[in-house]
Amino acid sequence: MELKDKLALVTGGGRGIGKAISSELARQGAKVFLAGTRLEVAEDTAKIIRDQGGDAHAIRMDVSNSEEIQEVFQTLSKEHKAVDILVNNAGITRDGLMMRMKEEDWDEVIRVNLKGTFLCGQLAMKQMIKQKSGSIVNISSVVGLSGNFGQANYTASKAGMIGLTKTMAREVAARGITVNAIAPGFIETEMTDKLDDQIKKDLLEKIPLTRFGTPEEVAYGVSFLVSERAKYITGQVININGGMLM
Ligand code: NDP
Repeated sequence: MELKDKLALVTGGGRGIGKAISSELARQGAKVFLAGTRLEVAEDTAKIIRDQGGDAHAIRMDVSNSEEIQEVFQTLSKEHKAVDILVNNAGITRDGLMMRMKEEDWDEVIRVNLKGTFLCGQLAMKQMIKQKSGSIVNISSVVGLSGNFGQANYTASKAGMIGLTKTMAREVAARGITVNAIAPGFIETEMTDKLDDQIKKDLLEKIPLTRFGTPEEVAYGVSFLVSERAKYITGQVININGGMLM
């Protein structure tokens, strides 16, 4: 129960990697708020966590809507407490070759993945600076480091998150706040289910540990980074990718 009395906000906490992160933080004793655009999905997950003895709550929050985000942060601090842990996990893909990529697909991915991280990070930092503690974990991606065919928008957003993580870390380090990124490799979730079998087969051949990762394996990294044991780690990118990129 290392995270007892801590309030955690996990964007995209309702499913996939965010669901595993929310469950793991709750298992460590945190009061967890799962945010997403589909309240019913987050609510189902929150209920599962509560049934397992955790303290979890669903909230509707679109990370690309600054007014909605402000309302959520205000409500949390008024009705509960300041955010101690923020996990910027919400993310989308709109894949297509750069030559044919529509401007709106570029804008949407940057708005959700990168601007959403900035907006939530900014409000969390304000609360954390006041209490002189807190930790933020941004879920980037291996392809933010390597680039990837057909993902100009997504890779730019994930690489942007790495630069943003390092700037955030520098700006708040003196206040005892840590900011890190995790760059997962190929993790089995709805996001990767939609890839075709040949792409999955090719990817598998590039993974030294010879399998795809699980959402839980990313969640363990997050729970370490927000724990007391990781207080001297900031501005880092932790690769959880089965050795796909070394
Ligand atoms: P999923 O597609 O399974 O889940 C995405 C989550 O993001 C959902 O909970 C969704 O909730 C939420 N979300 C999407 N748009 C918004 C929005 N505008 N506002 C708030 N929440 C939103 O993805 P994964 O679990 O696979 O991925 C989670 C993160 O990990 C993403 O950032 C992804 O880029 C990253 N990642 C994933 C990898 C993988 O192999 N799966 C590899 C590397 C990185 P809702 O539908 O309710 O809005």
